[in-house]
Amino acid sequence: MISGRAVQGEPTRAFVAGDEMSVTLDLAAVKTAAPKKQSMIGMNRDELKAALAELGLPEKQIRMRVSQLWNWLYVNGVSDFDQMLNIAKGLRERLKDKFTLNRPEIVSEQVSSDGTRKWLFRFTDPEQPNMPPVDVETVYIPEEDRGTLCVSSQVGCTLTCTFCHTGTQKLVRNLTAGEIVSQVLMARERLGDFPGGTRPTDGVVPKEGMRAVTNVVMMGMGEPLYNYDHVKNAMLLMSDGDGISLSKRRITLSTSGVVPQIGKIGEETGVMLAISLHAVRDELRDELVPINKKWPIKDLLEACRNYPGVSNAKRITFEYVMLKGVNDSIADAKELVRLLDGIPAKINLIPFNPWPGSQYECSSWAQIEKFADVVNIAGYASPVRTPRGRDIFAACGQLKSETERLKKKDRDALAS
Ligand code: SAH
Ligand code: SF4
Repeated sequence: MISGRAVQGEPTRAFVAGDEMSVTLDLAAVKTAAPKKQSMIGMNRDELKAALAELGLPEKQIRMRVSQLWNWLYVNGVSDFDQMLNIAKGLRERLKDKFTLNRPEIVSEQVSSDGTRKWLFRFTDPEQPNMPPVDVETVYIPEEDRGTLCVSSQVGCTLTCTFCHTGTQKLVRNLTAGEIVSQVLMARERLGDFPGGTRPTDGVVPKEGMRAVTNVVMMGMGEPLYNYDHVKNAMLLMSDGDGISLSKRRITLSTSGVVPQIGKIGEETGVMLAISLHAVRDELRDELVPINKKWPIKDLLEACRNYPGVSNAKRITFEYVMLKGVNDSIADAKELVRLLDGIPAKINLIPFNPWPGSQYECSSWAQIEKFADVVNIAGYASPVRTPRGRDIFAACGQLKSETERLKKKDRDALAS
């Protein structure tokens, strides 16, 4: 068992305990032999400025250097200081002494028959190189007119939504802004999105002339609003017009309903919002999405009504997983429409993706269609999300890292 609570904004470290015998790993006591370097990936302009000032660069040079570094990191996606040709060798060496541009290791890359791609990335924290690494799943879903990257914000999750595979894995730790942005950089590199890159020949990507990654959804592992600062910083980096340059309209944060943070993330980032609703009565939502006990449907919908910038042009997406005999009745569909009345909304009906040991079944196609009809008649268009990447276990809600297994191995290695 792995335990550890997410403290908002603070990276959480792992506490590992055996099943029968409680073994607490005192990570502070682990010797840190490898040199500590800071990762430059994930730094914003202020952090880059501070980093260069610390290296002793004269004030008048800093601005120019920040903009050069910014370009190398986020426009060209370089992973080695020596590729930064307009930065003198001496300065490159000084940068190398203090910072890394390390990318995660690619543990696996799988391509589904429908072109969906799933990566398992292994991150080592450069500031704590003796900490066990963590594994993170990122999924790429190509379509003719877009390529959507589904990004993780945490390893595991503190929440325990009963239909979600990630929910069976306790939180290991929050990902840093650098680790969140690295998922985008890695995908762009693998898909040939950086200048001079080449598109892969296997799998489908959007038509020629388009970027491979056009959209990002924070719908991978974890609850993004329980890792607020890092997720916010990462989304600001993704949407920076001189960097990765994804439109805020093409970045979506999905939350199970951390009500106090919803308005704040909207104000501070301007990204699109998706809500994992899944039930229209508190009694059922308490069971499916237990955070509902803290912030019930009424409070959640109030936060949606007040979401900064919400309008018909900037609608909130409500996600609704179709569970046979649980939440899929016509009465539920009618109540859904009634509840959302007055909120500029899109509804995404998600066929439940089963995973080994899951206690639910997906609603029948006929029932999904009947449910969708009610929603359609109320004015919501094409609401059923086609499951993608099922053959590589990459569909929504199926992500679960290898970290639990690794933990045992790492624990043994550290103990020996
Ligand atoms: N924690 C956030 C984001 C990650 S989950 C959230 O809950 O919104 C991304 C989406 O996948 C959510 O809507 C979630 O409810 C849905 N999901 C989880 N497990 C699923 C499953 N087995 N089948 C279909 N959708 C699932
Ligand atoms: Fe966590 Fe979202 Fe899964 Fe719920 S649905 S357990 S909040 S990842």
